[in-house]
Amino acid sequence: AIRTSDAGRLLHRREEHVAEVQEHYFDEPPVMLRGWRELLVDEDGRVYVDALNNVTSIGHAHPLLVHNIARQWSLLNTNSRFHYPQIAEFAERLAGLLPDGLDQVFLVNSGSEAVDLALRLAQAHTGRKDVVAVREAYHGWTYLTDAVSTSVADNPSALETRPEWVHTVDAPNPFRGVHRDDPSRYAVDAVAEVERLADAGTPPGAFLAETLYGNAGGVALPAGYLEAVYAAVRAHGGVAVADEVQVGYGRLGHWFWGFEQQGVVPDIVAVAKAMGNGHPLGAVITTPEIAASYRSQGYFFSSAGGSPVSSVVGLTVLDVIQSEGLQQNAAEVGGYLKERLQELGTRHPLLATVHGFGFYLGPEFAREDGAPATEETAAICDRMRRLGVIIQPTGDFQNVLKVKPPMVFTRESADAFVDALDRVLSTGW
Ligand code: PMP
Repeated sequence: AIRTSDAGRLLHRREEHVAEVQEHYFDEPPVMLRGWRELLVDEDGRVYVDALNNVTSIGHAHPLLVHNIARQWSLLNTNSRFHYPQIAEFAERLAGLLPDGLDQVFLVNSGSEAVDLALRLAQAHTGRKDVVAVREAYHGWTYLTDAVSTSVADNPSALETRPEWVHTVDAPNPFRGVHRDDPSRYAVDAVAEVERLADAGTPPGAFLAETLYGNAGGVALPAGYLEAVYAAVRAHGGVAVADEVQVGYGRLGHWFWGFEQQGVVPDIVAVAKAMGNGHPLGAVITTPEIAASYRSQGYFFSSAGGSPVSSVVGLTVLDVIQSEGLQQNAAEVGGYLKERLQELGTRHPLLATVHGFGFYLGPEFAREDGAPATEETAAICDRMRRLGVIIQPTGDFQNVLKVKPPMVFTRESADAFVDALDRVLSTGW
């Protein structure tokens, strides 16, 4: 298409050299120039409520983060083979957030790196390559993490193209999935798969899952799911890997980590996104025994992982989450938002259910026969944007809104979001 406006010309320039496979939100994306808390401002000065940016955990342009980063850059930034106070402090703080025994920290730069390293640690520790992972999940773009990512929304042929060491089990979705009539069957089947692999002489080295089904729209796993599968994997010498990249770090409100909601403790935890507020930051936290087994691979080094600036970012984000009570805010405002969305569902049948907790919510749209309302959801997101609210679909059917706003989201913004959605559902999309 010939693009004549300034925004159109900019999009054209982007499309010329940013490889096309790196998609952008919206067909006609607004040109964003500023962010503040949970608000975004485009080139025309139009303000949008950002209900989407989970990476921006403490809000856009947080003044303390801006100040601390600038200060640290002006003092020192170097790689983590040098010795400086910030890395010791940050690793100490991260270890303190996890249950006893999980106290060895690896600092990297992204969620993909964190999950990749978590799997390598599991493989090094157990001496086994085989991994059991849940379907419809996304864990990253690196070779290892892509191998265990089977969301058809990301790769339509994902299930046919897995390496032989990747074993997938049904997406444990109690609302939409093969065992929706009896969700306890998901654990039974996953345990059976672990047993089958053990009987075949290839017991899995790791079981990998998001602890709340983030990629499916914040769907809570069936009660007892992780407990049963972790036990089966451990009984055969494997380890439990938790991908907390999206759902961890306080966003769920009542729980800081997703695994707490399931009442389990993993052996290896991968963290990213929220911990850096958009600065590239990731971490793996595990036990001393598992961490030590990496020695068999050589030593571990990441140039920018755990640098003074990255450590200061991590420390500041944690300080702000704590001092501004953002986990508490996720519980309170997130709870209010969920109630309002549920009420909307009583008036608009297209809104079939609302998944999730706190600031990780997934309003799911379905037609009268239960079929996923995929086209409707895309149109709803487009109309929401025109009404000044940024939101996008998720899940294999792209029929769930991924509501995961900056954790400073206010009650007023929650109202603005629900009122806009009410208007779209009432007047058509
Ligand atoms: N794990 C999960 C659950 C994710 O959602 C993502 C990113 N969407 C990743 C891993 C990869 O993180 P990153 O984009 O930082 O590499």
